[in-house]
Amino acid sequence: MDCLFCKIVAGEIPSKKVYENEYVYAFHDINPQAPTHILVIPKKHLASTDEVTGETSVHVAKVFEAIPHIAAEAGLTGGYRVITNCGADACQSVRHLHFHVLGGKQLPENMG
Ligand code: AMP
Ligand code: ZN
Repeated sequence: MDCLFCKIVAGEIPSKKVYENEYVYAFHDINPQAPTHILVIPKKHLASTDEVTGETSVHVAKVFEAIPHIAAEAGLTGGYRVITNCGADACQSVRHLHFHVLGGKQLPENMG
């Protein structure tokens, strides 16, 4: 499948890995928008939150189970923000479900 993040999971495209388990892969965003900007993704290809169903939601749950460990490892003791963009209005640019974990500074109150 011609998917950038599937290729990153497969190791075909390099990434700065910060965490991995059976279900989840996490790596530094190539264009960070905060001092810490990590992308946390399910290894299973889901295009966006539009593909989350009763059958696939375990992959999202696994992402959210991993996030506290990833945040702690990254030293985000002051808090962090988790964002996912879905579709054109949200400017989703990679069609493999991913969660941005942003932190390391006081983030703006406005989210959109
Ligand atoms: P979104 O706009 O929500 O689809 O987010 C896609 C994110 O992927 C952006 O923040 C990009 O900077 C990031 N990105 C794109 N290509 C790579 C890559 N090869 N390695 C790491 N992050 C990437
Ligand atoms: Zn994919």
